Amino acid sequence: MTNRRTFIKNLSMLTLGGIANQSLMASNALPTPSIAAATGSAAKKKMGLQTYSLGQELLQDLPNGLNRLAQMGFTDLEIFGYQENTGQFGDYNPKNTTFVSAKDYKKMVDDAGLKISSSHLTPSVREYTKANMSKFEDFWKKATDIHAELGVSYMVQPSLPHIANEDDAKQVCEIFNRAGEITRQAGILWGYHNHNNEFKRVLKAGEKPNENPNPWAPPKGTYIEELFLKNTDPDKVMFELDVYWAVMGQQDPIEWMENYPDRFKLLHIKDRWILGDSGMMNFPNIFKKAYEIGILGYYVELEGDKKGRTQFEGVEKSAEYLRNADFVK
Ligand code: MG
Repeated sequence: MTNRRTFIKNLSMLTLGGIANQSLMASNALPTPSIAAATGSAAKKKMGLQTYSLGQELLQDLPNGLNRLAQMGFTDLEIFGYQENTGQFGDYNPKNTTFVSAKDYKKMVDDAGLKISSSHLTPSVREYTKANMSKFEDFWKKATDIHAELGVSYMVQPSLPHIANEDDAKQVCEIFNRAGEITRQAGILWGYHNHNNEFKRVLKAGEKPNENPNPWAPPKGTYIEELFLKNTDPDKVMFELDVYWAVMGQQDPIEWMENYPDRFKLLHIKDRWILGDSGMMNFPNIFKKAYEIGILGYYVELEGDKKGRTQFEGVEKSAEYLRNADFVK
């Protein structure tokens, strides 16, 4: 576990002052950010990648893969594949044979000049009940100790528990709050990452849907994402907004950031595959709003149809998009 001094230091890095310093640095950067990022000779853009985007292509040769990512201009990684039983990191792909300890992973990433700032993980316990609270506590306590070794700032759950009504959501939020309390003791912020199902509406327990709804009236019920935002403690739980999955859930990610400016601390920057290729995502406006609300970081994520290309090709093209985007600091 991290001691109190490191905890305070970590927390102060998460303040808006930290962000202001970063934008000051960015404004002093060379006017050609793509060259700056490629050479590393000037203040670099802060560019994060969720390593799930590369899966086995990265894990099969971690040292070389990590070097390639640094050359593309990435500075931060959000990893995945925490193994609850062994405390190692790998891939959920059954064919995967690479598993690394926190210590070895950190060393490899340090050697490449990168930083693991975040990690995605989900407890294997699926029943979010009071009776299971101690199982969730055990999961998050062990995971926090291991992630403190990695030096992460954020631990993020990307999977939605089963929720049939508002009461279920409130019960889940109690467990999220407890998880956040546990990670916070190590100076790590706990977060929740959405897909599109969080933008489904649920009713109160026992409430019935309208039998003959007026097709123009807003549907009954509350979005699960909104129930999570309203029933978690802002001191313990933050949110990582996956902007692509929000759009897939028929939402405007900018509106969510606007409505909850203090709760969304991280973003997943994602498109149908390569960033900027689909025409579905308004990244200039998304980044503008993200900086406005003081977002702490973002991670690029790719999944989906590669059309015969490698995952590295997709990530490389996406990195190029961000390096050349004048709206990315
Ligand atoms: Mg995502």
